[in-house]
Amino acid sequence: MSHACLPEHAAVIAGKRVPTERWIDVLDPSDARPFARVARCGTGEVRSAVEAARQAYETVWRFVTPVERSRICRRIADALRGERAELARLETLDTGKPIGQALTDADVAARYFDFYANAVESLGGETIQQRPDRLAFTLREPYGVCGHIIPWNYPLQIAARTLAPALAAGNCCVLKPAEDAPLTSLRLAALAEEAGLPAGVLNVVPGYGEEAGAALAADPGVDRIAFTGSREVGEAVMTAAARNIVPVTLELGGKSPHVVLPDYDAARAVPQIVEAITEHAGQNCSAGSRLIVHRSVHDELVSALAERFRALRIGPGIDDPDMGPLISAKQRARVLAHLAEARRDTEVVVGGGVPGGAAYADGFYVEPTILARVTPRHRVFNEEIFGPVLCVTAFDTLDEAVALAEHTTYGLAAGVWTSDVTTAHWLAGRLRVGQVFVNDYSAAGGVELPFGGYRRSGIGVEKGLEALREYTRCKTVAIHARNPA
Ligand code: NAD
Repeated sequence: MSHACLPEHAAVIAGKRVPTERWIDVLDPSDARPFARVARCGTGEVRSAVEAARQAYETVWRFVTPVERSRICRRIADALRGERAELARLETLDTGKPIGQALTDADVAARYFDFYANAVESLGGETIQQRPDRLAFTLREPYGVCGHIIPWNYPLQIAARTLAPALAAGNCCVLKPAEDAPLTSLRLAALAEEAGLPAGVLNVVPGYGEEAGAALAADPGVDRIAFTGSREVGEAVMTAAARNIVPVTLELGGKSPHVVLPDYDAARAVPQIVEAITEHAGQNCSAGSRLIVHRSVHDELVSALAERFRALRIGPGIDDPDMGPLISAKQRARVLAHLAEARRDTEVVVGGGVPGGAAYADGFYVEPTILARVTPRHRVFNEEIFGPVLCVTAFDTLDEAVALAEHTTYGLAAGVWTSDVTTAHWLAGRLRVGQVFVNDYSAAGGVELPFGGYRRSGIGVEKGLEALREYTRCKTVAIHARNPA
């Protein structure tokens, strides 16, 4: 298709589609072909979007009651559900993920709007009985204008995860989606508008990170920033926010371990361990990318996992395989470089390269891979690969398992597999991670469960009621109470 024929998706600022001459091609990761073009916003568009958000906040949104905000959020949820098939199709074209996973993403996005629609109705401060002649209480107030910068792996889910609590709490938003997968963010803005969200309350400025993203992070008109993405860019965003003294939420990467104890029937853990590293081809911040397994069950578990990995169907997301391609040539090159290095002194149990055959020739495919005999001195043990690569390490004692789990600088999530409640409690308390999933790694997807990183995995919390509080700030009011007589 010639570029002139590609559908074009403009930025949304103050409820208008902004004309532009500057475009970015959006590629289908299953065949590397461009299928759409998206606006390439720069400092000027970002400034206009922040001003539009400010204007909407000062003139409209700050006067809208929580009940009305709640109603609008519920209508956005309905609109997302109503268009789940089309949203999933767009998400699959944009990210390469299997359509079944993209349908789940659309459903989860709707759930975020439902959840915060309900939650905001009971948001409130507290009264403080400091002294009899003083009535003191707190108000939870919105920040005003929030900037949101999101990645390409779960664009619709993460847009909803960060926008729903911010909007419900009364903020106006400027969203910068990732250049690799911007389309569902723009569709979400259109649906929100149809659902009654006033113009300017949600603005979307697609573009490159160093241009639109950096401009949004540095804009002095932004009162709060939520960033989801890599640790390196998180540092840059936090530095820019520091110059304006505005708070940031950073949801960064992970190298999350499964710790499998010998008392657990390891066969029962197999399906979730496979899913946790192959969902969206391992391009998931909370991917269970390390398997720290007791030596007595190591061989049995690794061979059961290898059998499953070999059986996984790989193909274009639109055919709903078990695993689609990676997002881009750049991402695939990164994963293959890790594999090439690891091949030198770890054991490749299954996978390890690019799937053969003409069907995979053009897309960004990588085989689901298990590496055994991985130790803390290997780069693949410590660094986020962001691909379908499971690194296996055996342990003998529980202390050793904790030391291995803690060896990386990340602290996003951990899976614990044990039938012993005492061990489960001990490990849950001991591991320095934001979430511990005991015998159920799939809990990582829960809308209601607060989600945030310890250590270099981030700052602050998204999801759950915690996120609603994070998108408000606390004001204290103290009133002198005395008898006027
Ligand atoms: P990335 O950091 O490269 O990009 C994320 C976003 O930041 C994109 O929109 C990008 O355009 C923008 N950006 C890039 N440079 C920028 C700059 N200088 N200033 C401002 N914005 C800039 O990350 P990615 O490759 O899109 O996503 C993968 C990373 O995201 C992984 O590390 C993954 O673990 C992490 N992630 C974390 C979570 C979580 O909730 N913790 C969720 C999903 C992804």
